[in-house]
This record gives sequence, C-alpha cells and structure tokens, in this order.
Amino acid sequence: MSGKVALVEAGGTKFVVGVGDSTRRIYARTRIDTTTPEETIGRAVAWLSQQDEGYSAIGVASFGPLDLNPESPAWGRITRTPKPHWQNADIAGSFARAFGCPVTIDTDVNGAALGEWLWGAGRGTASALYLTVGTGVGGGAVVEGRLVQGLSHPEMGHIRLPRHPCDRDFPGNCPFHGDCLEGLAAGPAIKARWGASLSELPVDHEGHEIIAWYLAQAVQTFQAILEPGRIILGGGVMATPGLLDRVRLEAVRAAAGYFVGDPAALIVSPTLGEDTGLLGALALTQRLK
Ligand code: ZN
Repeated sequence: MSGKVALVEAGGTKFVVGVGDSTRRIYARTRIDTTTPEETIGRAVAWLSQQDEGYSAIGVASFGPLDLNPESPAWGRITRTPKPHWQNADIAGSFARAFGCPVTIDTDVNGAALGEWLWGAGRGTASALYLTVGTGVGGGAVVEGRLVQGLSHPEMGHIRLPRHPCDRDFPGNCPFHGDCLEGLAAGPAIKARWGASLSELPVDHEGHEIIAWYLAQAVQTFQAILEPGRIILGGGVMATPGLLDRVRLEAVRAAAGYFVGDPAALIVSPTLGEDTGLLGALALTQRLK
C-alpha cells in the first residue's frame, strides 16, 4: 500500500493507534483505554482524523475471538467474548465507515506472527510460528507468506498436553477446557498455583521447570503439525529470565532425537520490540493489494 495507513492495535485493556507507511515508519501513536466499543473506537477515529485527512488503508490487529470469514455478515466483529459490551462489537466496520478506505483485520497474535515473519525473528524462513504466553496463550502461523486460517483463526493456546509428573493436582484454569496449554501455562495459571508470577519465583522454584516443560510439549506438537522453520515465543511470561533456555533444553528432551534442528536457531524471542502491535497491524495491510 502506498500513502499513509492507519494502524490499530485493539487490546482488551488498551487500544494503541498509530499512523505509519509501508516503509515501517510510525509517524505518531497514542494510547486509549478500552472502555465501551462506542467510546473507544470513537476516540480512535477522532484521533486518526486529527492526524491526517485520508488513509490508503487501515490495519487492525485485535483481541478476539473475531469473525474472519469474508463471506460472513459478521466479518470483522468480535464474537464470543466474556468481555462486557464487546460481544458482536463491529470493529472493522466502524473504521471502514469512518474513513471509507479498505480495512483489514486479524487477531493481534496473527498480526504479530505476520510482522515477525516479514521483518523480525521469522525473516528468511518459509514458515514461522509465533506463540505469545501472557495473560492467555495464543498462536499464529505463517506458511509461505500466508497466515494459516481455517473456519476461523487458530486457537493454539487451547491444545491439550500431557501433565507434568509434579503438577498432577492443579486442574488448570481455562474456563472451557481446564488443563489446556493456556489453562496450565499462562500467567493466571502460574499465579493460581504458586501465588506469584514466574519472574517473581526464586530461580530454583519448580515452577520454572514445569512451565518450560509444558511449553516444550507445545513446541513438539507444533513441530509435529507444521515443522515451522522458526518458533517465536513472546509475551509477558516469556520475559522471565532463563525461561527461553529452559524451553529449548526441554524441547530437545521432548523431541528425543526425532525432530532435527538447532534449538537455539529454532526457538527464539520476537525482535520487533514495543511496536509489535502496530507493526503487526501494518503487516496485515500488506495483504491489501
Ligand atoms: Zn482452553
């Protein structure tokens, strides 16, 4: 896309809105607390209108779940969220009506996956998988330049895992599945078991090994399904010192010689930094050609 593009990182607690272009320059950005859809999107539209008179495209990387079926009348809307006011919120349509230009929307994790594949830790690979481990777990995969998409976006945080031998009693806290990956390894699951975040626990606490072990099982599952050239692990939990190395070690053990590849080259951190959300939204606009 040529010209200026409007970028929206729509999060459950805040929206980050920016103006950029295809050279990856971000001219301006602002942060808006997420309240009701009308107020939040209204403030985003007002700010974007003040910045520029017109945009060639709008990229939205949003929290979900989203309806991403282009044939659906609910395309671009939030679907089954427990978040008050946001069920059926028409995110893509609101921006399209306000600016009259093409809007592309996907999940925030899919935006980050595409951004990291284009410009970050996944660059140069035929396929890459991005997994964020924070207040939830979400994943996106890019294969030959396209985001993997089925009836809806993937829900990689909800895969089932074997249980760690020292972690049999915790039932998991995913409201849908109990002990899925998110229910076992996301930040709230860590707090529910041990009363603190992983980075707050002593380095010799068993939590470090248990969470690394679960993430390694997940890595093995994603390798078995996709064999991505790179597995990028981001999110707040992954910022725990030493965790990435522990995951690599456990992944080698879990693979038991079956999966090839240097774990340090395969399992990596994201590199786009604090602009990941806006750059993810920008990456999504590259699909509008
Ligand atoms: Zn689940």
